[in-house]
Amino acid sequence: MGNKPINQQPPTALCVGGTDSCGGAGIQADLRVFASIGVHGASAITALTAQNPNEILHITANTVFQFEAELQAIANYYHVACIKTGMLFDAEHLQSLLHLKQTLMQTSQMVVDPVLVASSGSLLFDADSARKAYSDLIVQASVWTPNLQEAAFFLATTTADIEQDMFEAAAMLLLQFKVPVLLKGGHQSGEVCTDIFADLKGNMIPFTHRKQKLNHALTHGTGCRLASAVAAYLSLGLALLEAIEKAELWLQADLTQE
Ligand code: PLP
Repeated sequence: MGNKPINQQPPTALCVGGTDSCGGAGIQADLRVFASIGVHGASAITALTAQNPNEILHITANTVFQFEAELQAIANYYHVACIKTGMLFDAEHLQSLLHLKQTLMQTSQMVVDPVLVASSGSLLFDADSARKAYSDLIVQASVWTPNLQEAAFFLATTTADIEQDMFEAAAMLLLQFKVPVLLKGGHQSGEVCTDIFADLKGNMIPFTHRKQKLNHALTHGTGCRLASAVAAYLSLGLALLEAIEKAELWLQADLTQE
């Protein structure tokens, strides 16, 4: 193992997930967010996707061997301040990440975006193993960031049910893993959408935004970018609530400048 340079500046955030050929989500978006916020972005790829905002044409998994080598190479040289997970593809890649995090990156924080389905409808993780695999990962996280659909999956209910009482849903998600949760309401119907942050004390902090009248090409990947922004601000040393507040502002600014 090579020596790690000391006092690495800027700090390094590591995105672990799939590529998105159209650039709005996935690794491409994560790296853009990291650069914009001023952290160094490293990446480990689980799968390549051929997609645009409307459809996914094909997905090819990275080999687990190559994936693990990418994580190992990063850990050998960089101190990773925060890991952000996106599309992990399957339980095998997820378990590899978990193992390497526990052995090589014990002090890194982690933001888990439990990516299961693209808004175009394609499955991005094997549904049968998702609950067990993600349970193991989420308990290691500083915060996890389900959207309405993912929240419905973990609470075994419908998105309509979640939308009816977002505070209750956030409380139940917090209880499920006893890990702070940022419930993302970006796919809510109506004029406004609300994200709710539930911390370990059970405080509920809502972030309400007027919905941007944007086409799908620009909203594709917004949940992904919000989670990456939280990871970037955590990497800069901010406390969790402050990192979330800044990430919410960063995303609104990103959406309005397009
Ligand atoms: N594709 C990849 C590789 C992703 O990581 C994600 C989300 O993180 C998506 C697609 C889903 O984005 P959206 O639901 O906005 O289509």
